[in-house]
Amino acid sequence: MSKKLYEIGDMPPLGEVPEQMHAWLIRAERFGQPTAAFQKEVVTTPSIADDEVLVYVMAAGINYNNVWAGMGVPVNVIGARNKAGETEDFHIGGSDASGIVYAVGKDVTNVKVGDEVVMHCGIYDRSCPWVKKGGDPMYSPSFKIWGYETNWGSFAQFTKVQAQQCMPKPKHMNWEEAAAYTLVAATAWRMLHGWESSSVKKGDVALIWGGAGGLGSMAIQIAKAVGATSVAIVSGEDKFDYCTKLGAKGCINRNDFDHWGMLPHWKDSAGYAKWLKGVRGFGAKIWEVLGEKRAPNIVFEHPGETTIPTSIFVCETGGMVVVCAGTTGYNATVDLRYLWMRQKRLQGSHFANTVQCNEMNELALSGQLDPCMSRAFTYEELPIAHQLMADNKHPHGNMSVLVGAAEFGLGASGKPAVAMVHPTLPKGDVHTSPAPYPMSTPLPGIAEGEPITIADDGSKVRDLMHRGIISCAPDETVGAVAKIMVGNEIHAVVVMDAQGAAVGVVSQTDMVLARQGRTPDQARSLRASEVMTPGCATCDADMLLSDAVSLMTGRRMHRLVVTEKGQPVGVISMTDVVRKIIGD
Ligand code: NAP
Repeated sequence: MSKKLYEIGDMPPLGEVPEQMHAWLIRAERFGQPTAAFQKEVVTTPSIADDEVLVYVMAAGINYNNVWAGMGVPVNVIGARNKAGETEDFHIGGSDASGIVYAVGKDVTNVKVGDEVVMHCGIYDRSCPWVKKGGDPMYSPSFKIWGYETNWGSFAQFTKVQAQQCMPKPKHMNWEEAAAYTLVAATAWRMLHGWESSSVKKGDVALIWGGAGGLGSMAIQIAKAVGATSVAIVSGEDKFDYCTKLGAKGCINRNDFDHWGMLPHWKDSAGYAKWLKGVRGFGAKIWEVLGEKRAPNIVFEHPGETTIPTSIFVCETGGMVVVCAGTTGYNATVDLRYLWMRQKRLQGSHFANTVQCNEMNELALSGQLDPCMSRAFTYEELPIAHQLMADNKHPHGNMSVLVGAAEFGLGASGKPAVAMVHPTLPKGDVHTSPAPYPMSTPLPGIAEGEPITIADDGSKVRDLMHRGIISCAPDETVGAVAKIMVGNEIHAVVVMDAQGAAVGVVSQTDMVLARQGRTPDQARSLRASEVMTPGCATCDADMLLSDAVSLMTGRRMHRLVVTEKGQPVGVISMTDVVRKIIGD
């Protein structure tokens, strides 16, 4: 062994693994913004197991995952691993890379020392019973994202990977380009090709959200390769050229429409009609771009909450909306009528298995997949690249950072079978979306995670409730109920039957909905029983205030009828809670 530690850019002789290596480390005590969280350190080079490979990293890809790893939210990845028995008190991130194989475990057959490889980020336990009996490793409880959920990612001179993660590096790409595409392209591949009869086919129409983004730019190329026609959605016309050069038939500027967000309530006929008008206009725009009246057979989704209602509406009968993220929010709303009557499929998808990663990589090897690298950084600039992402100031496309490669532009040898198009990325683009959560998010109640501590001062509903119930009879007119509401400065009236049982609530929303499509006189003469929301959500006076709030937020309501010994005795409302918060 000639040296214990090699400097960055000073490549050890092939196959010689130094005792120590340089790496960018995240430690719990400096969780926070990327420029503080990532620090350069020297650590012991990891040893490998029988099915593992040690790769000398030439370049690493940058993903949102490690912005969040550095912040320590939504998961403290170091704490989670320590809990599971791993001893390292640091995290080396990096879920994309290109490099050279330096050592292999004794069971490794697919790569040898000296091979130039790219690595995908799907790790699983090969002894998992599900995997052993031939199940998709993506469904294995042992599945993890390398360099986020696991340590020893690509932000170091050497990375430790499973042999199945290694794939041939496209010879025509330089190191930084080769490090840029795998995570997003493999995810897009599974979304488009992983769902049997719904997978994208020649002649299909694919609607691609975020066509100039990391996933979208890959999806356009994957759809093109199979002979499908894609329509890309973007937030500005400056990105049209980029998407069409990648292979989209045409683009739509989402800012030309304003019907985004959760669906209006189906009882809100005016709101629903307005939404329908917006979504129909959007559908007509798809026809215009296609030059024919066809609906997308497959919709490539990741914005989530703001776009899912539209995606499901415009999707072809029998088609599929496939989703791998909820960048704008997780509570996507669905009008079930369209789902069941038109027999559409809403399919979740997460990363990709080994076979799918390799299928995707064939496309890259052949030259049909541009890595869409927007910017490469030096090793020193790694925290800055992450900071740009955290601040939403990074360019569209995929970013890389040099690790072992001494200069930009090295590593390419040979030409692809298919000539590559190198579209120009939109310049000066600003991300308007909130920074997405990491692709792997622990699910409350399923995956292990830090328990959320409920801030609770022990207040009970009885401490804040209004005693007494302002009520009306079921056959009282809406006009009379409105007077009760206004006269008492309240937002809802409880409907009580002759036996004194609370049978429903007339809220302000119910009143406004009742007015839709009617004259004021017609609305006024309706009966409370006709407009009320039937049933009555109740809570006991002794319930914790925080539990009552959760009950209201979960049901999207603003008040609960309070009971004592099963009898209604008062009301607690969100307004009361707001008053408590502001100290009124
Ligand atoms: P990205 O490069 O930031 O692209 C996201 C695109 O979404 C942007 O280009 C933006 O394009 C578009 N967008 C933003 N806000 C939108 C809105 N309100 N409505 C419609 N479109 C909007 O990110 P990415 O790499 O493509 O990743 C996208 C999401 O997938 C992230 O949340 C990421 O964490 C997740 N992901 C999941 C997996 C998985 O395996 N589950 C893998 C990779 C990524 P315009 O502004 O031009 O419309």
